[in-house]
Amino acid sequence: MEHGRSPEFTLTEDAGLRCLICPHRCLWTDSNPNGLCRVRGLALSGYGRCIGMAVDPIEKKPFAMFKPGSRLLSTGPPGCNLSCSHCQNWQSSQGAPPTVYHSPGELAELARKCSDGIAFTYTEPVVWYEYVMDTAPLVRSLGGVVVMVSNGFVNPEPLKRLISVTDAWNVDLKAWSDDFYRRNCGGNLQPVLDTLRTIAASGVHLEVTYLVIPGENDSMTEWDRAASWLAENCGENTPVHVSRYFPRYRQTRPATSVESVFSAAGVFGAHLKNVFPGNI
Ligand code: SF4
Repeated sequence: MEHGRSPEFTLTEDAGLRCLICPHRCLWTDSNPNGLCRVRGLALSGYGRCIGMAVDPIEKKPFAMFKPGSRLLSTGPPGCNLSCSHCQNWQSSQGAPPTVYHSPGELAELARKCSDGIAFTYTEPVVWYEYVMDTAPLVRSLGGVVVMVSNGFVNPEPLKRLISVTDAWNVDLKAWSDDFYRRNCGGNLQPVLDTLRTIAASGVHLEVTYLVIPGENDSMTEWDRAASWLAENCGENTPVHVSRYFPRYRQTRPATSVESVFSAAGVFGAHLKNVFPGNI
């Protein structure tokens, strides 16, 4: 799968090739050869092209209830399938960051030498489908764990395959509003809910992050609906990180107040047993 085009998720059509990894279902043609994520396309393969790399505590990903105290080699691809106005890593996800190629074997060996496994993170790892599918089993065969930090905007079939080679996911629930996803992220809510439900049902460890942005996704009603849906569909023990936003990229609203983060944590905590205020 070196070309970054797995045959099962690439459909040949008269006009070109259609990518089936995420709900955008981009059609790659001669005149428009690359996907929205800028990682996949006719003339583009982000396969193995790693942006910055660091060894991070797992708590920083964030995970609160999976392998506490472990350290993970963290990296990601040079693009993303969403375009969130508030992206905290926008230089990597929306720009053209420098990359270094590492074969799956090299990355797995690096992880073994310096950490307890790999976190595919920073940007959006589902658009790195083939690379994750090739690398994750090698990491696990060397005794490491594999975690995904994802926006959850992925189609069901590739998701199921990714789940089969990974140990834990942290998925953003960015808002309880389709309008928010369309306006701020260039996506929509339902595929993310489907992803959350699928991971929870799979038995793979799931944590969720809700970034509170003032005036965008901070109504008590919205928090209450999101929390109650999570409890009902993913289980009341699902760890949820209610996190503080800081202005980045195109979003200029002021940083979330600490009080607001604690208010949100209180509302989420009325439905869920493991709620963690973050970034405070
Ligand atoms: S993964 Fe990338 S190329 Fe494929 S459908 Fe999604 S945005 Fe388009």
